[in-house]
Amino acid sequence: MELNHTAVVDLRGVTKTYPGGTRALSGVSVAFEAGTFNAVMGPSGSGKSTFLHCAAGLDRPDTGQVLLSGDEISGLREPRLTRVRRTRVGFVFQSYNLLDSLSVWHNVLLPQRLAGVRPDRRWAKEVIRRVGLAGREDARPAQLSGGQRQRTALARALAARPRVIFADEPTGALDLSSGREVLALLREAVDELGTTIVMVTHDLAAAGWADRAVFLADGRVVAELADPTAEKVAAQMMAVSHR
Ligand code: ADP
Repeated sequence: MELNHTAVVDLRGVTKTYPGGTRALSGVSVAFEAGTFNAVMGPSGSGKSTFLHCAAGLDRPDTGQVLLSGDEISGLREPRLTRVRRTRVGFVFQSYNLLDSLSVWHNVLLPQRLAGVRPDRRWAKEVIRRVGLAGREDARPAQLSGGQRQRTALARALAARPRVIFADEPTGALDLSSGREVLALLREAVDELGTTIVMVTHDLAAAGWADRAVFLADGRVVAELADPTAEKVAAQMMAVSHR
């Protein structure tokens, strides 16, 4: 197999049932190629969060496999799984998940420090510049706007040069223009750095920035769109919700 055809994220027959019996994912198989921006969409309760957690190694599937760049992570246990999360993937969450007591600079370097990796300071400076926060390295999250906080989170995600960034409703807490800035930066990470992005979102406009939208309903992949526009995504969401 040629390396450039290896999916960066590959889920094969992933099933997840929660205690109590809710089957959140039922045999989900989907792969994401290098350097692509992907939106994962679906109605509330369709399994999006569970999907992201299993794909990113935040949770383990009951059956099936999850591979990151060809390496299976679904069989790993802590602390190896934690190491994979800190060194091989980046995260951007709706609520930023920054540490209030740390500056922008220290938040950006934290995952590498926790992983015991010597941080690449030059690259950290460069990603802080790319997200438009040069000169704000010493600011605390409380001194920043929501958009600036999310851009700090994006710099943190990029700092370890991960092949993939998982984003969970990255625009969910932002106003329209801040949201657009964050989406443009995610797009730039794909186009200029070759990062793969897997973004769970309800936001139709956000999906319009993606190369591909995958739709979940009742824990299954039920549809997908190439080059989604907000209009095409809206029509597909209506169809999925009325299944
Ligand atoms: P979405 O992100 O699309 O809203 P989720 O993955 O959160 O979907 O949830 C899928 C299904 O699994 C839902 O029926 C939800 O109620 C259930 N679920 C999610 N998390 C848990 C949990 N920790 N314990 C039990 N059931 C859960």
